[in-house]
Amino acid sequence: MKPYSSARDEFTGEADVYLDANENPYPSYYNRYPDPLQKKVKEALAPLKGTRPENIFLGNGSDEAIDLLIRSFCEPRQDSILILEPTYGMYTVCANVNAVSVQTVSLTKSFDIDVEATLKAIDSTTKIIFVCSPNNPSGNLLNRQSIYQLLEQFSGLVVVDEAYIDFAESESFIALLNEFENLVILQTFSKAWGLAGLRLGMCYASSAIISVLNKVKYPYNINVQTQTLALKALGNSLRKDIEVKQLIRERKKLMSALTELPLVRKVFTSEANFLLVQVQDVKAAYQYLLHKGIIVRDRSSVLNCENCLRITVGTPEENQRLLATLKEI
Ligand SMILES: *Cc1c(COP(=O)(O)O)cnc(C)c1O
Repeated sequence: MKPYSSARDEFTGEADVYLDANENPYPSYYNRYPDPLQKKVKEALAPLKGTRPENIFLGNGSDEAIDLLIRSFCEPRQDSILILEPTYGMYTVCANVNAVSVQTVSLTKSFDIDVEATLKAIDSTTKIIFVCSPNNPSGNLLNRQSIYQLLEQFSGLVVVDEAYIDFAESESFIALLNEFENLVILQTFSKAWGLAGLRLGMCYASSAIISVLNKVKYPYNINVQTQTLALKALGNSLRKDIEVKQLIRERKKLMSALTELPLVRKVFTSEANFLLVQVQDVKAAYQYLLHKGIIVRDRSSVLNCENCLRITVGTPEENQRLLATLKEI
C-alpha cells in the first residue's frame, strides 16, 4: 500500500520559507502542520524506554494504536483477535468496528492466564492476542512466563498492554523486543504521566510492524500542542516519578483501610492506580457514593467481578473522603 505523502513527508529539514503546504503564513502557535512522525518526541522517549525511535509509534491515545493494529493485521469478516476476560473494553469495540471477530478465553479466578486454554482457543483465524498487564479491571500483573509461552507458541501478534506499568513492580516487555518479533507493547501518557486530556499513546514493536502502522495512520495524527507538551513532560519525568510514588503509597494505605471495612469482602492485589473491591451490596454502595458526590466504576456485570467496584486511587484527601463515606454505609 502506498501511504499518503504529505508536504512534511517530502521535505523534512529546516528552512526559512515554507511555501509547500498551503498554510497561512501569518504566525500563530498553530499555523504550521505538525511533524507527521513526531521525531523530537520519539528521540526524547527512546532513551527513557531503552529503545530506538524506529521502534515507536505514537497515536491519538493508545486506543488509536489498538484500532490500527486490528485494521492493519486482521482481514474483515475473516480474521479474529483473542482477548482474556475480564479485560479492557476497547479491544472488542475496535474489533467490532472493523468487522473482526473476538475470541474470548477466561482468566482464572485469580485473574491470571490459563495458558493451556488460551493456546487451545487459537485457530487459523486468530491474528492478535491482547494481554493486559497490569490488567484492567483486576489490577494484577499477568504471569510473565505465561506471556513468554504465548509469544513462543503463537505465530501472530501478542500485544502486551502496559497502560499501568509505571505503577507496577515489574519491568516493561520493551526490553524483550529484540527477542520476539511478534511482540507489541502499548503504553500511554493518560495514566502515570497525568496527560489523559492530551490524547497520546505509545506503541513499541519491531521497525517492520511500526512502519505498517505509520502507513495506515492519518498523516498528522498528533497535533502540534500535544507534541510540544509531551516533550515538556518528558523533560521533567521526575515529576511523574514523584506522583507515581505517592499514588503507590496511597494505594497501599487505601488497600489496608478498605480491607478493615465491614462492607468490604475482598480487595484484590493491585499493581495499578486503582483497586478492584468486592463489597456486600454493590448497587447500594455505588448509589451511596454517587449521592455523596463520589464516582467510582461499577464492574459487577463483568466476568468474575461479582459485586465489585473499581476505585481509582486519588489524592490523600480524596481517599480519606472515600473511606469516611464508605464507613457511613
Ligand atoms: C486507560 C487505558 C488505556 C489508555 O488509553 P488511551 O487511549 O491511551 O487514553 C489503554 N489500555 C488500558 C488497559 C487502559 O486501562
